[in-house]
Amino acid sequence: MTVAVQVPLVVGAAAFGLVFGSFVTALSYRLPRGISIADGRSRCALCGHALAARDLVPVLSWAAHGGRCRHCGGRVSPRYPAIELVSMLLFMCAAIVVSDPVQVTLLLAMTPPLLALAVIDLEQRRLPNILIAVLAPLLLLWRWRTGGDFPTGVGVALAIFLAATALNAAMRRVAPDAPPLLGGGDGKLMAGAALALPLPQYFLFMTVAGLFGLTLGVIWRWQKGEPRFPFGPAIVSALWLVLAAGRFLPF
Ligand SMILES: [Zn+2]
Repeated sequence: MTVAVQVPLVVGAAAFGLVFGSFVTALSYRLPRGISIADGRSRCALCGHALAARDLVPVLSWAAHGGRCRHCGGRVSPRYPAIELVSMLLFMCAAIVVSDPVQVTLLLAMTPPLLALAVIDLEQRRLPNILIAVLAPLLLLWRWRTGGDFPTGVGVALAIFLAATALNAAMRRVAPDAPPLLGGGDGKLMAGAALALPLPQYFLFMTVAGLFGLTLGVIWRWQKGEPRFPFGPAIVSALWLVLAAGRFLPF
């Protein structure tokens, strides 16, 4: 189990990571607002000025103008370079850690929708179905590539989705006014993870997601003073980690 770093591959992954990160910034802004991703070019959120190619170079455009819009001078949110950099790091890590070419392609394909889900849940408290639907076939392909069987994956995923739905229904009966224990999207994402992961890895994924969730919950309460926090980012980061670390796991 060695990790051989192929420099050209990692440099290429970094470049693609920046480009797809830029796509995620636009997608995670447009999707919850119902703006088509194909709808014209990006505009400054403050002054509406259409952005030129040179305003859209990931990270560099933001840094070159000191985090301000070139037209109105308004502050451009650091979410843009932050998402682009996270995307770049994830792409680089995937290229370094995952050795199988099909698996690395699948993980790279899953990274933008997973990152978009985390960002949208953090900002809007939503997990759009369309992104989960995009992930589902990729997760099933992952199972195929890692030698798992489809019926078990689909069966476990269905069972988890039904369990999450039943849990929420039971909670609504017991405490009708309380917010749902798990958002609908959370249950779907947890079910989606079962499409890809064999059970031992799935339990590891749930444990990691729980620990990340606890951490995020503490930070959320401390920073925002709200007891309810978005669980999606914890689920997607745990899923990404277990997928990436798969070949190092003894089970
Ligand atoms: Zn502007």
